[in-house]
Amino acid sequence: MHDSDQQHSEAFFSGLAQPGIQRLRAYDPGHDLVAFRRRFKDSHLIELGSNENPYGPSAKAKEAVLGVIHESFRYPDPLGADLKRALAAKHGVDTASILLGNGSHELLMQFAQVFAGPGVDVVASQFGFAVYAIAAQAAGATLRVAPCNADDHAMPRGHDLDAIAAAITDATRLVYLANPNNPTGTWYAADAFAAFMARIPANVVVAVDEAYAEFVDAPEWASALTLQNQYANLIVARTFSKAYALAGLRVGYAIAHPGLIAVIERVRESFNVNSAGLAAAEAALGDEEHLAWVIGRNAEQRETLASALRARGLTVFPSQTNFLLTQFAAPGDNARVAKIEAALCELGTVLRPMTGYGLGHCLRITVGNADENRRLLAGLDKVLA
Ligand SMILES: *Cc1c(COP(=O)(O)O)cnc(C)c1O
Repeated sequence: MHDSDQQHSEAFFSGLAQPGIQRLRAYDPGHDLVAFRRRFKDSHLIELGSNENPYGPSAKAKEAVLGVIHESFRYPDPLGADLKRALAAKHGVDTASILLGNGSHELLMQFAQVFAGPGVDVVASQFGFAVYAIAAQAAGATLRVAPCNADDHAMPRGHDLDAIAAAITDATRLVYLANPNNPTGTWYAADAFAAFMARIPANVVVAVDEAYAEFVDAPEWASALTLQNQYANLIVARTFSKAYALAGLRVGYAIAHPGLIAVIERVRESFNVNSAGLAAAEAALGDEEHLAWVIGRNAEQRETLASALRARGLTVFPSQTNFLLTQFAAPGDNARVAKIEAALCELGTVLRPMTGYGLGHCLRITVGNADENRRLLAGLDKVLA
């Protein structure tokens, strides 16, 4: 089939889609990493584009996967009861407050599927995680983007909770927050969030995406879970993809009031989390030592890498995550950054371009292990010279 035929047929079928989908553009996962791996198979690709965890999962999680693989002719537990019990114990909540997802991406989509739709507003922040806009649009809702924080002159800035609250209308049923946020790495303080929640009407669901929560060490930060008992309209999403290093097994979860969870359960596919993922996630929760070790390594390397990048004259935005949003040129000089990024790719170092976020003068760099970071810096020195 010719390219033009293909384009023609996508346009044709797009015309048949519901209005929200007609305007939608698919999530951009960055580079084709499988093709890169094939190309660089002998010379060790440095993959710092997807915020994966370079230290790998707990040995207990790997063992658990092997333990269930011989049972994989059976469907997984559609309730995920064992994992829910482990999560309930960890977070001090009832199992009825927990929703499991095929990654938290699935859950973020479900929130909009359930609470948004034509005639409904969804509010998110400028520079917020790309999935929120996709979820809102896919549901046929109207996305309202609140401007980011203007407190400081650095670009980009974090969530402006006042602006987000101000963007809420009578038609708003869902707000997406990320704390910390991807791709900016920014976070907001516990007291600011408490004040925010006090202003939000009970008929607006506030979804807080805490994909990077485990990496946070800022004392002013607190999980939104601390307000769980106070607000039935608050839902917190977490994932096993980042600190637990299980991105390939696709497990996420959300915690909220059992009534809210029960409504989302209506759209959940019965076997959305597979048996390997369920077993690995449960085992990973039981290995707090490994998690603590990963968090420690990440904090150390985050600091070291940020200093090394700053020493090269680059602006590194403060981050409480496992990535560093790094400014390589003046705002608007995207061409220069695209060149740097392409040159790094040629050296086998993959970072994440940010043009889709309107931050084309920046690249998002996952904090690798010591060896990866050293090689990244060596490549960068070549490219910037
Ligand atoms: C990585 C990430 C997720 C998690 O995605 P999974 O589907 O759980 O792998 C969710 N939100 C943000 C902001 C992320 O960066």
